[in-house]
Amino acid sequence: MAVACHIDPGEFTVSLPPLVEPAAELTVDEIRRYSRHLIIPDVGVEGQKRLKNARVLCVGAGGLGSPALLYLAAAGVGTLGIIDFDTVDESNLQRQIIHGVSDIGRPKAESAAASIREINPLVDVVIHNTVLDRENVREIFAQYDLILDGTDNFATRYMVNDAAVLLGKPYVWGSIYRFDGQASVFWAEHGPCYRCLYPEPPPPGMVPSCAEGGVLGVLCASIGSIQVNEAIKLLTGIGEPLVGRLMVYDALEMSYRKIKVRKDPNCVLCGENATLTDLMEDYEDFCGAVSVEAQEAVVDATITAAELKEWQDADKDIFLVDVREPAEHEIVRIPGSTLIPKGEIISGEALAKLPQDKQIVLHCKSGVRSAEALAALKAAGFRDAVHVQGGVLSWIKQIDPSLPEY
Ligand SMILES: [Zn+2]
Repeated sequence: MAVACHIDPGEFTVSLPPLVEPAAELTVDEIRRYSRHLIIPDVGVEGQKRLKNARVLCVGAGGLGSPALLYLAAAGVGTLGIIDFDTVDESNLQRQIIHGVSDIGRPKAESAAASIREINPLVDVVIHNTVLDRENVREIFAQYDLILDGTDNFATRYMVNDAAVLLGKPYVWGSIYRFDGQASVFWAEHGPCYRCLYPEPPPPGMVPSCAEGGVLGVLCASIGSIQVNEAIKLLTGIGEPLVGRLMVYDALEMSYRKIKVRKDPNCVLCGENATLTDLMEDYEDFCGAVSVEAQEAVVDATITAAELKEWQDADKDIFLVDVREPAEHEIVRIPGSTLIPKGEIISGEALAKLPQDKQIVLHCKSGVRSAEALAALKAAGFRDAVHVQGGVLSWIKQIDPSLPEY
């Protein structure tokens, strides 16, 4: 992977001046509330006044945003912006601890704002109940000193990075998957940017999202709290921020590793001869929902959940393959499906299990993995194989709403 040449082990630290000027004063209420901060010599009244004056934007009020917003609010960050367009779903509550049962169906930004007001009414909360896009990202980021990135998709992640670099803003990045977490501070003026570390998004279908692959709920707190820790250090100018270093956390081994990340002189965004001087036209396109092979494979080889149901009802001679993982098959399955995880199809290992004389129908959760598997099957000679658009999620919507959505 291209990443390797920009990473090497070893210690590399940098101290930076405070990002924010101190507020004029702390009120009596504030002195009482923040006393445990004030008596830490490195923070003190001066540091707390800087937090009071700070404006921090949290991108996403989900897994990472939840603990991050709670602790930023409790710490006394004066202005907290929340950008999220999503609403609270029951399946969020396993990790998104800023929301509760009574918030289900409510916009996440509003639910998060209500929790923050309960913890610290002194915080000025700014709600951006909108989709962050190339039209609004600069205008929104410009209102803040620091960005905390809690997004879970590559398109938004690259856009956050690009906007932050173009505006000269520092941002604290975090990512989580199953038992693994990563965090870093990207600030092109003082170190690498996200593109220096990951010049290209991963090939589509290679890195599943948390919705596809799962995440241990408490991992959000482990990484979200590292992000807040870094935010406080940057705002107040204490300690050595994770600029130029990647924190890698393994919850099963219980290990934290720091890896040095160099600024890439050839980075298209922050390198010496940068070619990317504005936001990209289309980040979704750049990160690609599915690979080119998969896009080609699905042409004239895609059926809807309703069509699958018709085929089953008409006793059509099909072989329905669930290409998800065993745990997902356990949670919910389309009747009559056989589990063969995508990896076994891509590696060729499972090809012998597939009948030659039946119409093969692939499905996954949302249609991305089945499209990738379909490309592999077609390349292996299964010319009339098809996949189900929208996967299990479409089946639940169109055919059987009593099944659990996960
Ligand atoms: Zn860069």
